[in-house]
Amino acid sequence: MKTKKIFFYIVVFFIFTYFRIYSFSLAESANIKNKYNITKEDILYIDKNLKNIDNRKFLKMLNFNTKLSESYKPKMLKQVPEKYTKDEKKVLIDYKVYEDLIKMIKAAKNEDINLKVISGYRSYLYQKKLYKKMCDKYDANYAKKYIAKPGYSQHQTGKAVDFNSLIIDQKNKKIFQWLKENAYKFGFSLSYPKDKNETSYQYEPWHYLHVGKDVSDIIHNIFGGNQKKFLLFINEYINQ
Ligand SMILES: [Zn+2]
Repeated sequence: MKTKKIFFYIVVFFIFTYFRIYSFSLAESANIKNKYNITKEDILYIDKNLKNIDNRKFLKMLNFNTKLSESYKPKMLKQVPEKYTKDEKKVLIDYKVYEDLIKMIKAAKNEDINLKVISGYRSYLYQKKLYKKMCDKYDANYAKKYIAKPGYSQHQTGKAVDFNSLIIDQKNKKIFQWLKENAYKFGFSLSYPKDKNETSYQYEPWHYLHVGKDVSDIIHNIFGGNQKKFLLFINEYINQ
């Protein structure tokens, strides 16, 4: 009789705990939904598009607080054909970005837009050199607005690409406009937009991060192109 009673209490305890955890996680996702102003349908769409575990890991890594280690390097790098780089410079990118990048360059060409890659993968040490150069030339406060500290650059992932020029003039404006309208169709996302720029960096219409078509669609369709908002959301969402 006694054992039966104990068993009964154990079962009740487990049922109670299960529902507590369950309702807690429901409340948590409701909070996140409100915070980011997204609907239940959006969540379903995000879940459907985020099937790729590799992509989840990659997005989790880009949470704005985690520093990439000095030894972090993409598994496999591939060289962008020199005809597609500015001044035929040697540029390496993560091999997973390659196909979409070439597709995009060709699609742009069909519309008379001549995309040229100026920067791709940068090692931790190279970023360190760039950062130091900027600090020496100006000062640290100025430098951190224009260039990421070593370990915090999207370029270290091998998935960030800079296009054409770091100068916004009439000729480049047309190119940047094309990218803004079309890059998401090839899995790229603008990292530091003019409006909705909650990052600590200035507007960089040349800098795109390859997140894959599934994710660039989410950023474009649900987050209005706001990559940072999406990354903050996804890190909270994946962590729950
Ligand atoms: Zn860049």
